[in-house]
Amino acid sequence: MIIDSHAHIGFNEHLNKSPEELISSMEKAGIDISMVYAGEINDCSNDRLLKELENFKGKLFPVGSISPLSKDKPSLDKFKEWLDNKKIFGVKFYPGYEPFYPYDEVLKPYFKIMEERKVPAIFHNGDTYNLKKGAKLKYAHPLHIDDLAVDFPELPIIIAHLGYPWMIDAAEVAYKNKNVYVDCSGLFYGEIGNTEEEMVKKFLDTFVEYAGGTDKLIFGTDWPISNQADYVRIIKNVFKDREDLDNILFKNSVYVFNIKL
Ligand SMILES: [Zn+2]
Repeated sequence: MIIDSHAHIGFNEHLNKSPEELISSMEKAGIDISMVYAGEINDCSNDRLLKELENFKGKLFPVGSISPLSKDKPSLDKFKEWLDNKKIFGVKFYPGYEPFYPYDEVLKPYFKIMEERKVPAIFHNGDTYNLKKGAKLKYAHPLHIDDLAVDFPELPIIIAHLGYPWMIDAAEVAYKNKNVYVDCSGLFYGEIGNTEEEMVKKFLDTFVEYAGGTDKLIFGTDWPISNQADYVRIIKNVFKDREDLDNILFKNSVYVFNIKL
């Protein structure tokens, strides 16, 4: 079993991919389930995501998105309904691409609802792929996650992309806070070359060294930014000697996203 905890569909010039294309990539890569993220950045609203994934239950799991800066935030009642009826399995936030810190006051009522239900909050962290003009890196530093993790100790949190290039900071925040996990997505663009493969291995080794192991590491690709089949191959290769490879490839996702297999 393999779960890709971090994939996108989208409908604009930044990212134009359908659920059907995702399914065909998963088949090539041997991935059973993908968590699929909404995002205004890709013209994929929460409502559109739910509609697009309707016919792919059990394979593609919707993860919503909320921007504290948007006029179009869901009401708290609507939000509760999504969570209680398992319409969405997590919420993705895009600090860095948008100028807000993870502990933004506007988001706190949503975090409270998520914490009560143990629904994970996923944060874009680290480098901002050049999709959007005006991105500001300071908002995407993993150290800001620590504030949120301390104030909402029961809220599961995932730092995306190992917080690249701040892997050591991401590892420390995950090591210190029992509710913080880290996904390994988006560490290369497209298909992987030999030099990139060595680099990705180095990033992962650095993270694991400082995090004290892999028990907080979650497999994710950031498809279509990164090729899923290459990602599966490289993760299996880097962690081939570890007994806990299944934790990385799917068990941590099952636990954090509360998926019933
Ligand atoms: Zn992403």
